[in-house]
Amino acid sequence: MKGCVRLKAEQSPETDITSRAEKSMSFAVTSERLFDGVFYEPEALNYPLGRYLWERYSFLPWTEIENHNNIPQMRAASNREFAHLKRHLIVGVRKTHRYTENGKVSDFLVPYTSSGCRAMCLYCYLVCNYNKCAYLRVFVNREEMMDKMVQKANAEPGRHVFEIGSNSDLVLENAVTGNLPWTVEEFARRAKGKLTFPTKFGDVEPLLNLDHRRKIIFRVSVNPEELIRKVELGTSPLSRRINAVNAMCGAGYPVGVLLAPVILTTGWEILYEQLLDTLSKTLDPAVKRGGFLEVIFMTYSFLHNAINSEAFPNTLALYRPDQMVGRGRGKYRYREGIRQKAEELLRNLIGKYLPGMPVLYIS
Ligand code: SF4
Repeated sequence: MKGCVRLKAEQSPETDITSRAEKSMSFAVTSERLFDGVFYEPEALNYPLGRYLWERYSFLPWTEIENHNNIPQMRAASNREFAHLKRHLIVGVRKTHRYTENGKVSDFLVPYTSSGCRAMCLYCYLVCNYNKCAYLRVFVNREEMMDKMVQKANAEPGRHVFEIGSNSDLVLENAVTGNLPWTVEEFARRAKGKLTFPTKFGDVEPLLNLDHRRKIIFRVSVNPEELIRKVELGTSPLSRRINAVNAMCGAGYPVGVLLAPVILTTGWEILYEQLLDTLSKTLDPAVKRGGFLEVIFMTYSFLHNAINSEAFPNTLALYRPDQMVGRGRGKYRYREGIRQKAEELLRNLIGKYLPGMPVLYIS
């Protein structure tokens, strides 16, 4: 691991609402018990990955569906059943492969091998797209998606960073499919461009000894431990995420750290100062020298509020009408004055605790 810091794993986070399965998942996403059932498009079984999943989860009930985007029994469920819906795996074939231009770390957002997620962060942006049906959908036609990316990368060498993790958490997905090592080595071997993905999980061991050729930019998303426990349900504790980025840096990957999403809860100034202090003490010097930062403020929505208040009535209230303002289509963001002050404080804290790390953007 080339001189990187190793932290001890923390105790399993305790929250009132996470089930035992969620707690164990937040440690290491290796359990076969993440799901209660599988819905699948029969066409998926024509692909090697589809057959692999069929074997691996053969002990679960499999229900045939026509279309992964429309599962009537899931749509008919109430918001209260959100956590139960998340215990289903959907296996299908991705039909649309439209890229979206992006000007942050990547040039294109690429629909890749999954949409939705098994974890349950209370602000998860995927809820805006999928509503309560934000469960994990895995797409088995990974070779077709890779071919398209390689073609585009090699045809346009100037526009070459592809974000493949904007629809899911690929480290979590990897625990189900084993896709990531294949993705890393296949892309590194064939394409001229770069790939990137963020994660809230620490399970990076399968990625450490790969031939990545420094073409994969690994980004870890962090928040104060208290907010991880209360809001990012089913994800890895902070220490495991820090271990992961240190290990990936030690394995030669370019790395970044996202402070995301910044949540302006009561006492947030202290929580984020503690977080930056922890990062300054535990990030490997190589991460602090060569890595970069991104800062993203939380956005929220009417949909989140409806689902969370029914499915998780005892959790931290993220909708703060005194702080937030509508930005159209039922979405909320922090008011400009509040956000600006917060940005100023965060820039000062970053300057104090992580002075060598460039901030790519604050949004
Ligand atoms: S880990 Fe990411 S994709 Fe999964 S629920 Fe949390 S925010 Fe959504």
